[in-house]
Amino acid sequence: MIDPGHGGQDPGAINNLGLQEKKINLKIGIKLKNILQNSKMFYPILTRYNDSYISLKKRTDFIKKNHVNFLISIHADSSKKKYVSGASIWISNKIRMHREIDNFIKNKKEKVYFSKNVQNILKKNKYNFFLKKTILDLQFNNFQKMEINLSKYIFQQFKKITKLNKMHPNYASLEILSAINTPSILIETGFITNFLEQKKLRTDKYQYQIANAIYLGLKNYFQNTSLSF
Ligand SMILES: [Zn+2]
Repeated sequence: MIDPGHGGQDPGAINNLGLQEKKINLKIGIKLKNILQNSKMFYPILTRYNDSYISLKKRTDFIKKNHVNFLISIHADSSKKKYVSGASIWISNKIRMHREIDNFIKNKKEKVYFSKNVQNILKKNKYNFFLKKTILDLQFNNFQKMEINLSKYIFQQFKKITKLNKMHPNYASLEILSAINTPSILIETGFITNFLEQKKLRTDKYQYQIANAIYLGLKNYFQNTSLSF
């Protein structure tokens, strides 16, 4: 699932030339979807196909209730320091995910889609909270390994076309990355507050290059680590 960040009444970051982040996110998201669609390895869907507003809760609810193998949220960065530029990747931190897992175990009403084997264990052990937590913690550890590994593959491709703001994934507590049933990363494609970078980000050519770099990262990851999934 590709999630072009923001949309509608939520423009995301805006630079001093009036460029809105939401527009760049959508253009890169659609390009990525089109590229992935041409590959038999992937079945891409978007959280938004146009300039519509979708709350973060709605986005994460969809992920929690459906079978999404992997989520990529697309954003563009901003900073008061105009010289700052480059792409970065964000993944969820452990504290946030352990909190989400605890909340899920305590809140019996919330329905979350899990793969069959996980679902079976949870069903059979309805009142064994310790076991349920252990299973979900182990699953999260696997997801995080995947996120870190996949980020490396995407960084390899990004290096060929842009500067990296950070060489390793950053950890954060973000709503869009908080679904406990789905591995997910957020990509900041570049800074719209940097004059040269926003100039590039506006062009179809560069948007395509970014989308293609993400695609190649995904493809190489899944080809080299098919057993882990
Ligand atoms: Zn954003």
